[in-house]
Amino acid sequence: MTSVKTKRESPLFTASIDKIIVKGFLADRRTAINELKTKGFTRNAILDRARELGLSDQFLKWCAVGKSDVALRNCLGCGERFLSVGFQNRLCPRCKNRK
Ligand SMILES: [Zn+2]
Repeated sequence: MTSVKTKRESPLFTASIDKIIVKGFLADRRTAINELKTKGFTRNAILDRARELGLSDQFLKWCAVGKSDVALRNCLGCGERFLSVGFQNRLCPRCKNRK
């Protein structure tokens, strides 16, 4: 298990927190952000984390089309959790871009 980079004053993004973010961004973003704020996360920290997980506008549009083989998986490169869009998708965007 690699350590998750902590941003100042922000609690850790655990697997369950990541799940709330992913679900929220795919459905009701505002509710999810408000829920996480009550847990001590700032809006910016949440948005940063969403970007780290791969929740880009492009990705959300893609999901809206109805593709939903989406899951949080651990990257084979660095071990970080990221949003995988399919069985064969096992590298996070950062590791993929490094190639
Ligand atoms: Zn990676």
